[in-house]
Amino acid sequence: MSYANEIYENLVKKFPEEKEFHQTAKEVLESISVVIEENEELYRKNALLERLVEPERSVIFRVPWEDDNGVVHVNTGYRVQFNGAIGPYKGGLRFHPSVRLGTMKFLAFEQTFKNSLTGLPIGGGKGGSDFDPIGKSDNEIRRFCVSFMTELYRHIGPDRDVPAGDLGVSGKEIGYLFGQYRRIKGCYENGVITGKALSFGGSKIRPEATGYGITYFLQEMLADRNDKIEGKTIAISGCGNVAWGAAKKMVELGAKVVTLSDPSGYIYDPNGLNDEKVEYMLEIRANNLPIETFAKKFNLEFVKGKRPWEKKVDIVVPCATQNELEIEDAKKLVENGTIIICEGSNMPCSLDATEYIEKNGITLGPSKAANAGGVAVSALEMSQDSMRYHWSEEEVDAKLLGIMKEIFAQSKQMSVKYNTTLSQGANIAGFIKVADAMLKQGNY
Ligand code: NDP
Repeated sequence: MSYANEIYENLVKKFPEEKEFHQTAKEVLESISVVIEENEELYRKNALLERLVEPERSVIFRVPWEDDNGVVHVNTGYRVQFNGAIGPYKGGLRFHPSVRLGTMKFLAFEQTFKNSLTGLPIGGGKGGSDFDPIGKSDNEIRRFCVSFMTELYRHIGPDRDVPAGDLGVSGKEIGYLFGQYRRIKGCYENGVITGKALSFGGSKIRPEATGYGITYFLQEMLADRNDKIEGKTIAISGCGNVAWGAAKKMVELGAKVVTLSDPSGYIYDPNGLNDEKVEYMLEIRANNLPIETFAKKFNLEFVKGKRPWEKKVDIVVPCATQNELEIEDAKKLVENGTIIICEGSNMPCSLDATEYIEKNGITLGPSKAANAGGVAVSALEMSQDSMRYHWSEEEVDAKLLGIMKEIFAQSKQMSVKYNTTLSQGANIAGFIKVADAMLKQGNY
């Protein structure tokens, strides 16, 4: 049995319930297998892969909070500090009822390679809670955030671990979390969390960064085949932060974005979104409105209970959640002549869908590379906070563009060197830097 397989099998045996973590570990280990084989003796001697798949630390804590009727509830909080070899742990906080330790491990593991790819000094982490913000009042959300930070603060810091937002955690929650951190610490360490408002150390372009970055990565993928984004028909899923940023930049660059979705179904706009519709996405998200509201407002088709992948488009950009594109969807995309899937959400394609897509001529832009723009601008936010200085919108956007071009170039270079797909090339590029740092720092 190969070294990579041994590690994977042990993982499944040891943590049988962590299915999403198995999925990402398998994907990464398989794609870096050529590098593992080249360096097997060195890696085995230093237990490099054993260390790579084990978080440096996982913190689990209770989060009691009081609702508006004075009733106390208890949720579980998590922070997984997966790999700090190249910088302080960095990764978002997710508030969603589906959150378990396995979800956090999957996301923190992915984050390790993504952060490495950005070329910036940030390690991999992730956190969150099974708290469901939907249907909660503003005061309940604030009380939850205060309680969550009252435990989390002792594990984080600007040079230690720097959380940010993710599903269910946006600017409002970041404000409440930072407010409580500042109160407890009694000093102004605003580099401890990113995604802040501009008034207390946020960065220009951070809300747009993930979606803009995806679009810049997509442009690189298209340029690589002597093509361009202008005039392309694009299906986007979700209607949240990532979907909004991607739609905004894609529309600006002349693409036709024809779908948006949520768990209830999708809307179809054959003429493509315009600026007004992109702007309205913010209202949908801010007020938790169902996507059908969007269809009603603009008199568009709403397809209930289905995913947008059944429509014939040139490019598909999943921006909702993990495993939102499965094997039957992949078959449909191949049938419809889709040329590119550029992954906005983390791990949107199931393993069999990924395999089918890549075997059947669709180029896949992997999420670890394509959606790294968000964390890259978060790292730029940390730099600005350290300098006590702000860059202009143009400066941040130019840096983001440069980072996304470099991520594509590295992924492509590795895929050529090792004769692999672009996704595998991205994993290899991310892994090599982390592995080098781990080996050079001794066996921690
Ligand atoms: P948001 O919560 O802002 O938006 C998520 C959107 O997807 C919402 O419209 C949500 O609808 C929809 N959605 C959720 N589950 C499903 C489902 N099963 N089927 C269809 N639609 C669904 O999150 P973000 O946009 O921030 O994040 C989206 C993805 O991108 C996640 O995978 C996240 O980890 C990843 N990501 C985010 C980054 C960021 O900077 N925000 C950075 C890198 C990755 P509803 O609200 O009705 O549930």
